[in-house]
Amino acid sequence: MRYPKVSECVDVFEALWPTALAESWDSVGLAVGDPDAEVRSILLALDPMDAVIAEAVVLGSDLVFNHHPLMLKPVKSVNAATLKGGAVHTLISNDIALFNAHTNADSARGGVSDVLISLLGIDDAQPLVPHGEGLTTGIGRVGDLATPTPVRDIARSLSNSLPRTTTGVRIAGDPAATVTRVAVCGGAGDSLFNEVRASGAEVYITADLRHHPATEARDTANRQEGRPQLIDVSHWASETVWLTAAAQQLETEFADRGLTVALQHSAVNTDPWVERY
Ligand SMILES: [Zn+2]
Repeated sequence: MRYPKVSECVDVFEALWPTALAESWDSVGLAVGDPDAEVRSILLALDPMDAVIAEAVVLGSDLVFNHHPLMLKPVKSVNAATLKGGAVHTLISNDIALFNAHTNADSARGGVSDVLISLLGIDDAQPLVPHGEGLTTGIGRVGDLATPTPVRDIARSLSNSLPRTTTGVRIAGDPAATVTRVAVCGGAGDSLFNEVRASGAEVYITADLRHHPATEARDTANRQEGRPQLIDVSHWASETVWLTAAAQQLETEFADRGLTVALQHSAVNTDPWVERY
């Protein structure tokens, strides 16, 4: 067993979360780093926030693996006085590489939405928006509960199985409605209402639901059969559960290649919301 190079880590990430599965607008892959540098430890986090990068410096991590990209929109400079430039400077001056798998990790089998829906005991979910025909990859997931369940029981179950958050778990629609077919999209999923309705889902679990998409989705539901009911969870919580599954996949994939690397979970909670009254 030996330590991988950054390029070999990228090969492992690519095997698990192929770049080809990413949405066209996304930014995924190696954002900062020397492909030939050796990697002894990887820090896993959702967001490349300053506190996560500072943690990587303190821990002596060689690579930060994130879900969300540091530079989703193009930047015109990496001036250290700017938000993004400052992060890039800190990473380079501490020999830390930065990699992210975003919508490719949402889309992949065993990805973000697969992990989220598996919290409800659904292990055979199908993509809401398949990536190509006949494939098991794609954005969101839809599947059936073993028994019809009131929406409020699903919300309570999620509240117990997801990490505690300030914003909690919220229901729009009828909390007492009994449902079987469940759609989920980890992270912000308010662009998928048409696909959710087409899937026959009776409840839709996602994050970052805003007032207008939520009220319009409920009015649309009320003019039809009342579905889907909506459950809104914390964006951070909906995705952070995936990191544990990702670490297990990485452990196996590195070992299969005769490579050893320490995997650490960031202790920084990057959910921005800290109090509620
Ligand atoms: Zn997200």
